[in-house]
This record gives sequence, structure tokens and C-alpha cells, in this order.
Amino acid sequence: MTLRYPDQKLDLQGPGYHFDPKNGVGLPGFKGRHLLREDKCTGCQLCAIACDGVAVAIEMQTMVRNKPQNKKNYWPAVDYGRCVFCGLCVDACPFDALSMSNDYELSAYDKASLKYTPDLLMIPPPEFGTAKVKFDQKRGTVTHG
Ligand code: SF4
Ligand code: SF4
Repeated sequence: MTLRYPDQKLDLQGPGYHFDPKNGVGLPGFKGRHLLREDKCTGCQLCAIACDGVAVAIEMQTMVRNKPQNKKNYWPAVDYGRCVFCGLCVDACPFDALSMSNDYELSAYDKASLKYTPDLLMIPPPEFGTAKVKFDQKRGTVTHG
């Protein structure tokens, strides 16, 4: 399958990878840039602790958001110069506050731009392309749109 990127981009359907803490199962989805829910994150740091054994990509930062469940105003930030997109931080979150998104256009000209502060992680991913992927029995995977 060949895409005429960036003119043609995949339309990745559905939410990105996330974890259901109640049932203890990971739910399939694309592992792109993280999405942080400010209404759920408690600042417990478990995501950062999980990443310490992998890539040390998460740093907890203080940012005033006045959310009742996060009185310390402590939020994760992710350095995409280090992240390997394994999803272990998502699995470690007991509050379903951290998931991964369909945002895969993360390249930058300098390392500083790869550091996503908590407020950047809270922004939903942008609209994606229109190239749908379809499986054709004879030709294999084909795109259209
Ligand atoms: S996806 Fe993996 S490497 Fe990236 S921040 Fe989470 S635990 Fe760290
Ligand atoms: S994202 Fe989840 S694991 Fe990380 S600090 Fe917030 S609540 Fe804790």
C-alpha cells in the first residue's frame, strides 16, 4: 500500500489506544501522541513511574487548572524525543486519564518542540485525512478517498 503523503493521509478511525482500568484490559487503537484528560488526572504520577523503566519520557509539571481531583496541580508532560510509544504509561493510569491518539504528525525541527507540556497534551488531535483503508481479497490492502 502506498500513500501519496502528505497530500494523502490515512483516516485512522476510532479512538487511539486506551486502557480500561475497571476490567484491566487495553483497548486497541493507534499509538500516536498522548491525550490527557484534565477532568480525570489526579497527578498521582503512576504514568511517570511506569515510564521511568522504559524511556524516562514523562516529567510531572505544575500547572494551575483548578480541578477538584488534582489539588496539587500536578500533570504529566511527555518528551517525544524520548517516547517509544509503548503505551505502558496508559496502562498504568488508574483513572483512564491518559490515552493515545491518532495524531502521528509529530516531527519538529528542534528537540525543544518535541516536549509536550500538559496543556498541549490536553488538546484533542487535529482532523485527519480522508484516505480510507479497505481490504480487498484479491489485491490486498487498498486505499481510496
Ligand atoms: S508511551 Fe511508553 S515511552 Fe512513551 S511516555 Fe508512555 S511509557 Fe513512556
Ligand atoms: S495521567 Fe493518570 S497516572 Fe498520570 S498522573 Fe494523571 S491520573 Fe496519574
